[in-house]
Amino acid sequence: PLSTIYVITPTYARLVQKAELTRISQTFLHVPQLHWILVEDSANRTSLVSEFLAHSGLTYTHLHVPTPRDRKLQEGDPSWLKPRGAEQRNEGLRWLREESTRGRQREPGVVYFADDDNTYSLQLFEEMRGTRTVSVWPVGLVGGMRFERPVVEGGRVARFHTGWRPGRPFPIDMAGFAVSLRLVLANPESRFDGNAPMGFLESSFLQGMVTMEELEPKADMCAKVLVWHTRTEKPKMKREDALQKQGLGSDPGVEV
Ligand code: UDP
Ligand code: MN
Repeated sequence: PLSTIYVITPTYARLVQKAELTRISQTFLHVPQLHWILVEDSANRTSLVSEFLAHSGLTYTHLHVPTPRDRKLQEGDPSWLKPRGAEQRNEGLRWLREESTRGRQREPGVVYFADDDNTYSLQLFEEMRGTRTVSVWPVGLVGGMRFERPVVEGGRVARFHTGWRPGRPFPIDMAGFAVSLRLVLANPESRFDGNAPMGFLESSFLQGMVTMEELEPKADMCAKVLVWHTRTEKPKMKREDALQKQGLGSDPGVEV
C-alpha cells in the first residue's frame, strides 16, 4: 500500500501565519495520502487555526503546546539563540506514538518535519515516500549557503556539504530528512532536545536512531534541490500604527 506521509508542522501566531499556512496547505493538497499534524505554539488551540484547518480540505490533527517562557525567543533576540519548534515537534511525535498504542496507526508511514515558512516541491514527497529508515536530500538557501547536502559516494552518504561545523553528528537542516514511522515507534525515547546547542537540534533527534552509513540518499543521489529554507519578511505596520492612533486602523473584525 501507499505509505502515509505524516507531516509535523510547528506554527505560532503572527501577522503572516495565515498566509504561511495557506501556502503550505495548498502544496499539501496536491500530495496523496498525507496527514498533516499541525502543532500550535500556544496554551490553547486558536480559532484562527481551527477554522483554517476545518476548511483546508486536508486530513489533519490539530495539537498545541506552548514553548516554556525560558525557551522562547524574545523580540530582538538573534534567531539562532534558541531552537524553535522543538516542543511542538515532540508533541507531534507523542501523538503518533500514542495513536500507535491504540492500534490506529496507518502503516507503512513516513514522518517529515515541515516548518510553515519553507517552500516544498511536490516531488519531494514522492522521494520520501519510500523511506525505510531515514532518507536525506539537499536543502536550498540554508546555513548561509546556496544549498547544503549530504555528499554521496558509491550510493552511500560519505560526508556533508555544509558551511558550518561539518563534524556535527548530523549536519542536516530539519527540512532535509524524513524518518520511517516504524523507526519512530521503535525508538520511543527519541525526541528533539529544546536545550540543544545551536545547530544540534536535528542531531539530538537522529543520534541513536540511525548511523550515517544507514542514511538513504534521495533526490537523484542528493543532486537535486526540492525544498528551500525560505524565510518570510516581517510585514511593516508603520501606516497601520499611524492610522490606528487616529481611530482609522484596518477593521479588526477582518481576519488576515
Ligand atoms: N515556531 C514556533 N514558535 C516560535 C517560533 C517558531 O512554533 O516561537 C515554528 C515556526 O512556525 C516554524 C518553526 O517553528 O514552523 C521554525 O521556526 P522558524 O521558521 O522561525 O525558524 P528558522 O526559519 O529561523 O529556522
Ligand atoms: Mn523558517
